[in-house]
Order: sequence, then C-alpha cells, then structure tokens
Amino acid sequence: MEKRIYADNAATTPVLPEVVEAMLPCFNTAWGNPSSMHADGQAAAELLTEARATVARLIGAQAGEIYFTSCGSESDNWAIKGAAHSAKQGRNKIITSKIEHPAVLQTCKTLEKEGFEVVYIGVDSQGILDLEELRAAADDKTALVAIMLANNEIGTIQPIKEAAEIAHSVGALAFTDAVQAVGSIPVDVKELGVDMLSLSGHKLGTPKGIGALYIRKGLRIRNLIDGGGQESGRRGGTENLPYIVGLAKAMEIAVERLPDTERIRALRNKLIDGLTAIPYSKLNGSRETRLPGNVNVSFEFIEGESMLLWLDIMGISASTGSACSSKSLEPSHVLVATGLPIEMAHGSLRFSLSHMNTEEEVDAIIAAVTEIVAKLRAMSPLYPGAPDNTVFVK
Ligand SMILES: *Cc1c(COP(=O)(O)O)cnc(C)c1O
Repeated sequence: MEKRIYADNAATTPVLPEVVEAMLPCFNTAWGNPSSMHADGQAAAELLTEARATVARLIGAQAGEIYFTSCGSESDNWAIKGAAHSAKQGRNKIITSKIEHPAVLQTCKTLEKEGFEVVYIGVDSQGILDLEELRAAADDKTALVAIMLANNEIGTIQPIKEAAEIAHSVGALAFTDAVQAVGSIPVDVKELGVDMLSLSGHKLGTPKGIGALYIRKGLRIRNLIDGGGQESGRRGGTENLPYIVGLAKAMEIAVERLPDTERIRALRNKLIDGLTAIPYSKLNGSRETRLPGNVNVSFEFIEGESMLLWLDIMGISASTGSACSSKSLEPSHVLVATGLPIEMAHGSLRFSLSHMNTEEEVDAIIAAVTEIVAKLRAMSPLYPGAPDNTVFVK
C-alpha cells in the first residue's frame, strides 16, 4: 500500500510499537490468572498491580480508584447508569449536554425510558457549554451531571471544574467522559473535581477493547458485573491483562510526549488557516479552547461524504461527523447544537492529528482539500461561483 496520511486519530489510533512490546510478557510469561495464588498467577498479579498504579498516577488518582473496563462506552454506561440507579429517592434527574458522545446520549435515552428525567444543556456557537443553563437546571432532584471533557467532533474543551462545582452545590455527582482528552491534554481528577471519569485505550495507542473508569474513593454506585471479585468486586471477569498493561504503557508514553503538544498545536493551526482560506468555509468549534490535534471545518455547497471519498482515493484518512454517526444521513448533532445550518453541517470534515503527523502532511492535506472542494463545487448546482468580497461567508 502506498504511504497514506492518517489524520483520523479521534476515531482510533494505530497501536504503538512500545505498547505491543509491553504487552508481550503477558502472552509469553505472565499469562497466569491474577487471582491465582501460585507463582504463575502472581507474576500476572504483579503486572496488574503495577499497571493500575500507573494509570491512577497519570490522572492524579489512587490505584484503588481505577476500574478497568472493556472500552470507553462501557465506562460511560457504568458511570451514568450506576449513578442513576444508586441515587437517593427523589433524585431522578440527570443533566448532560447536547454534544455528548453516543455512549452517553444513548445511555441517557435508556434512562429516560426507565422514568428518569434527562436535561440536555446547550452550547454556544463555539460548542462551549452554557454554564448558566446548567446552573439553572441543577437542583436537589439532580442525581448526576455528566459533561464530556473534550468533544470528539469539534475538539472543544469544556469547563468541567465549574460544572462539577455546580453538581456538588446541589448534592449531585459529577462525571466526565475524558476519552478524547486523556493522552492529548493533562488530565487530573482532583483538579477537575469530578467523582467519576472515563477513558479509553484505543484513542491513545492501544488495541481496541480496553477502557477504565475512575470512581472516587468512598463513592457507592451499583456494581457493573457480578462475578468473581475482580476490580474490587464491582466488575467481575478475569482481567484482560495484556490490554491493561498496554493501556498503562500508552498513558505513560502520552504523558512523556506532552511537550510535543506545541508542535501538534502549530500543525493544527496551520491546517485550520489553510482550510479556512478556502472560500465559503467555516471553522467549527473554538479556535483556542480546543484539543491540540482537532480540526473541523465546514464547506458550503458540497457534501462531507464526497470530500471524504476523494480524500481517501488521494491517500488521506479523515472523517465527517463522528465515525459512529457517519454511516447515517443525519447531520452531526454536535454541529447542529452549535447552531450551524444543516447544509453546512453536511459539508464538514474532521482531521485529528497526532504526534506522528508532519508539516509536509498538513501541506498535502491543504492542497488536496483545496483541489477537491474546487472540483466538487464545479459540479454543484448550488454553487454560486467564486465569491466577491461582499458575500464571503466566514
Ligand atoms: C471514542 C469515544 C468513546 C467510546 O470509546 P470506545 O472505547 O470506542 O467505546 C466515548 N466517548 C468519546 C468522547 C469518544 O471519543
């Protein structure tokens, strides 16, 4: 295969060679069951203990506060359903935002069917949470406030510390889906002040199928899987040790690479500038309060899917909407929540960069998109022609 440009790291990341390396002992020597008392089991148990301590330390938690799960979606489900089902009588309200990942939104829909009231807080035109609306919605009936730390489509970073304070001021719990944030920006559960936080390995260099949920010490929420006492008896099932060890390694590497963030941010800004120089385009999300690698731009008069196809042919992997919703014809709920007109929402492209991307790649993406947009607009019956300065939409 020719050398492709991978710019879809918000969908998933390639598995890091160092992660594969770190996982190998779990297949070759430490393949035992961590619950077994004998030496074979204890070799595995040691790796498990070490991995849990590492994951905890890297988000400012204690080892006993980390629960390994099978993915970010599982962590989100557990946090939200667990909090809802364990809430005191009379607390049957969940507050979340309109721009959450489907793992949060669909979980909330399920709870609505069970009789819970769910309030979906809006965002401004840059995709930033309306804290006043949250403050007005929070009351002594609220069990949980669930707001994502960073958005997967437009990269906006939310004021979680403030949201958690509002939750606690009414006696509710605070949960944040930090799947996109962990590995991209520093994340500290104490600084954020949240009671629960979810993360997922495959967004930062592990294979798909490993996640974790931070549950603050002393917090009682319903157990997820009844079983053999693993994960302090709260999520049974023999541990997926190779992936757990891989997750710890990937998080270590991500933290080591944080100094590289400035370079990624510069690439991101170059890409934003290059793409928004195309007429009839618009940056989605905030320019400043955004993940270092996220670029999301809408182009008028054309479809995201068509652009994506052409990019793919030209060897570039990107995304339109989110990977989970891009198979449907519905416009992105995130872009709609920012007030973007439906036509513009259909013409969006997301590029998510990592430490592996280079300036040459960014130049190639800008050149490719510029060419594709021109080509597609030339065929579009909607396109009014090159803009004069008066009708230039920005
Ligand atoms: C990817 C993602 C998830 C789901 O994680 P999985 O491990 O794929 O289940 C949840 N929330 C956000 C914000 C995500 O980007």
